Amino acid sequence: MKERGILIVVSGFSGSGKGTLMKELLKQYDNYALSVSATTRTPRPGEVDGREYFFHEIEEFEKMIAKDELIEYAKYVENYYGTPRAYVEEQLEAGKDVILEIEIQGALKVKEKFPETLLLFVTPPSAAELRRRLEGRGTETQDVIESRLSRAAQEAEGMDAYDYLIINDDLQECVQQMHEIIQGEHRRSFRN
Ligand code: 5GP
Repeated sequence: MKERGILIVVSGFSGSGKGTLMKELLKQYDNYALSVSATTRTPRPGEVDGREYFFHEIEEFEKMIAKDELIEYAKYVENYYGTPRAYVEEQLEAGKDVILEIEIQGALKVKEKFPETLLLFVTPPSAAELRRRLEGRGTETQDVIESRLSRAAQEAEGMDAYDYLIINDDLQECVQQMHEIIQGEHRRSFRN
């Protein structure tokens, strides 16, 4: 029987580049499955329902909470975000390492429920670089950018709960680093 996969949480400030990092990791290695979250936020230009997120009305989202269909959920800058349970279970069972790209409150809930979860935190090299990336994205209003920056300052205080901090300076180096950390975790759990 195939060894059960590892559950990995990747968090990082909005604008840390973790989205691009995840895409690249999945492109280069086939043992990873990326969980697609449910959200009540409106899609950004280019986002497709079922690919970046499952976009829902608030009532639908609340029904999923009531039916216990989410492993965790959190409110982030006025919107709900949550991880659908079924896909994660199915992929772990199939031996895939499943990545949840979620914010810190959700990360801590997942760790509490599944203590063997590997927690990774991605950060840009500096605060100035973070602002530059958020503004450069050009998809958010200045108000939203400011909310996301102040949320980042709060989240920085929670970074200690994470197993590894990954500094996203060079994309390819970062992909390699992340892959090696996860492989190391496989060896560790195999020995235990
Ligand atoms: P964005 O609106 O930029 O796509 O995401 C905002 C934040 O919500 C990011 O930090 C992202 O990682 C987080 N997020 C996305 N999906 C989930 C989820 O399912 N649960 C939780 N707790 N956070 C999520």
